[in-house]
Amino acid sequence: MRKGALSLTTASLIAAAFVAAVPVFEPTPAPAEDITVIGEAILATPTTVAVANAVADTTSDCASTAYALEKWRLSGTHTWSYNPAGAPATVAPMALTTIQRATTNLTGGQNRCGTRATLAISQAYSGTNTKTAQISPTAACTGNDGISVTSWGALPANTLGYTCVYYKTSTGTVIASDMMLNSTKKWFTGNVPAGCTDSFDLESVVTHERGHTAGLSHVDQTTQARQTMSPRTLACTTYKRLIGSGDLTGLQALSTKA
Ligand SMILES: [Zn+2]
Repeated sequence: MRKGALSLTTASLIAAAFVAAVPVFEPTPAPAEDITVIGEAILATPTTVAVANAVADTTSDCASTAYALEKWRLSGTHTWSYNPAGAPATVAPMALTTIQRATTNLTGGQNRCGTRATLAISQAYSGTNTKTAQISPTAACTGNDGISVTSWGALPANTLGYTCVYYKTSTGTVIASDMMLNSTKKWFTGNVPAGCTDSFDLESVVTHERGHTAGLSHVDQTTQARQTMSPRTLACTTYKRLIGSGDLTGLQALSTKA
C-alpha cells in the first residue's frame, strides 16, 4: 500500500507512515523542512494454509514484473553499521554475516532467476557501534542522527523488521536509513530448523527491509506472494533471501532514475 502522513494499517495490510520535520542531524546538515521520514515494516505470517499455498506457487518468481516505488531512492553507496546488542542467542553468532549477505543480495540484485544485474546502488558496512536504530517499540521513526544503524529491539508482536528512511523531500535522495529487528521473535539462519513452526529467516527479512531503503515499496501479497517485496514473510521459509524478477525490475527502474 502507499503510505501517507499518519496513515495506519488494517490487520491484513502493512505500512505505518510517519512524517516529521527533524530539527538536527549530522554529519550532512540540510534544512529540517526538507527532510521526510517514512517507516516500512515486514510482517510475520503464521504457516496458514492460504498463505502457504500462495508461497508454494513458484510460477511468479521469474515471470512477474510487478514492483512499486517509494518516494525516495539511494544515490551512491548506503553505508551502515550494526549494533549486536539484544540479538537472540539462536542467531547472534551468525547475525552480522547474515545481515551483510542480505544487504549485498539486495544491492547486487541477486535473484532467483539467474539474471545478471548491474545496479546503480551499492552498500558498505562500516562496523559495529553502540547506537540503536531510531525506531520505537510501536514502530515509529523517532529521529534522524544521519547515521544508518541496524539493531535489535522491541517492535509490535507481528512486525519482524522495521525500516525508517530519511530522505531529502525535494530530491528523494536517501540521507540515512535505520533498521530494527524484532528481538522477541524466533529467528534462524542457514537451513530451516527441523520441526520449524514459528521461526523466521533473518536473511529473508533483511533482504526485504533493504529493499525499502533502496526505494522499493510493497507489492500485492495475494498476487505477488513470491516477490521479496510482498509485505508478509511466512514462517519457516527462505525464498525471500534472493529477490524475484519483479523486485529486480523495480531496482533497475530505480537505477535508471539515479
Ligand atoms: Zn516491507
